[in-house]
Amino acid sequence: MNTPAMPTTLAALAAAAPGYTPTDLRVDIARRIILAAVTPLAGDEPVPLRAALGRVLAEDLRSPVNVPPGDNSAMDGFALRADDLSNDGVTTLVEVGVSLAGRPFAGSVAAGQCVRIMTGAFLPAGADTVVMKEIVRADASDRGRAHFPPGQSRGQNVRCAGEDIAKGDTALTRGTRLGAAELGLLASLGLGAVSCRPRLRVALFSSGDELRDAGEPAGHGQRYDSNRHSLAALLARLSCAVTDLGIVPDDPAQIEARMTQAAACADMVITSGGVSVGDADYTGAIMAKLGEVLDWKLAMRPGRPLAFGRIHAGDRAAWIFGLPGNPVAAMIAFMQFVEPALLKLAGAAARSAPLVLAKSATPIRKRPGRTEFARGTLSATGEGMLVEAAANQGSGILRLMAEANCLIVLEHERGDVAAGEHVPVQLFAGLF
Ligand code: AMP
Ligand code: MG
Repeated sequence: MNTPAMPTTLAALAAAAPGYTPTDLRVDIARRIILAAVTPLAGDEPVPLRAALGRVLAEDLRSPVNVPPGDNSAMDGFALRADDLSNDGVTTLVEVGVSLAGRPFAGSVAAGQCVRIMTGAFLPAGADTVVMKEIVRADASDRGRAHFPPGQSRGQNVRCAGEDIAKGDTALTRGTRLGAAELGLLASLGLGAVSCRPRLRVALFSSGDELRDAGEPAGHGQRYDSNRHSLAALLARLSCAVTDLGIVPDDPAQIEARMTQAAACADMVITSGGVSVGDADYTGAIMAKLGEVLDWKLAMRPGRPLAFGRIHAGDRAAWIFGLPGNPVAAMIAFMQFVEPALLKLAGAAARSAPLVLAKSATPIRKRPGRTEFARGTLSATGEGMLVEAAANQGSGILRLMAEANCLIVLEHERGDVAAGEHVPVQLFAGLF
């Protein structure tokens, strides 16, 4: 087979992408280049269930047991043999015992007999059918007899062993990110630990002479570093191990030292600020010095500058993203580029962010030729999903990010949106 060789440098990889224009790069092409460059980290390790939230399964997981483990009742009622029931009249059977969840009836059900049974209790030997108690006439004064109406069907109200998952079936496939339902499922199989891909190590720092840490005094011309906090929170949601390397001033030597320190301890380095073309924007140049960088101007709003590369520290290498400094732009660039890259690095199966189509409540100004991510508020109304774009879309206004619950994705080719037009929306939060 004639497989083209994988380009060895990021520059070659990018140049091979159709439509590659680094000074005005389409969002979808940028994402494709990033995802083509990043490959999953090798390795796996056993992880106890409670520590596995957000981790990626390293192997197809076959069930060691049947779920449910045995035939059991879906109702409170009576277990009996379907052959005993008359098709056209009431049938009377003798009640010979009780089967409770966790305390099954020890005997078996013979012809003419029934056993009182609770939801989840194992079906006694001999029985094949459950009749719900609400339609059975049985009272204590009746010497242990129960009367059943006609019209029951064989096997009704019985959950069969292995009905949810049969022993040996694949319960979860490799590459699955473990969430609440997956962890519950693994526990239901009796597994106390699972084989997971390595936990990603991410190092984070902010750059800018003007930045101060929250909790400290800030003087004239200074502002608080919010990016490290919003980005660390986004990383925590992805279950990464985060090393916070603080704030670095706009000083090339200090940025280089911090970048090297970051590359020495992380699989991925994330910086924000200093990535534009201002006098004090050194991030891209230092990335290039320590490895290789794709220094982009994206056809995107907010968040035009983005640097992506690979840097070295001794014999270690790490991926690195230089995000824009503006707080909203930094968060959106993280969601659109860094998160997919981290998921691929973690070995997670590819999955694009779910989109909802909603009617725009208002007109939205949009210039064709760039992708715009507008902050919006999505709500369910009698006429379907309605989204309201924030009136002010300034890329530095974090308050609007906090008030919004979604991003309206205004695609590259799209022009102005009229009120009532449908637009795709990415929700900030899912159910779990
Ligand atoms: P820069 O990308 O360094 O030119 O920064 C663009 C804007 O974002 C400037 O107004 C910076 O002060 C601001 N900024 C940069 N980094 C941060 C940060 N970590 N937290 C809050 N604002 C920032
Ligand atoms: Mg700066």
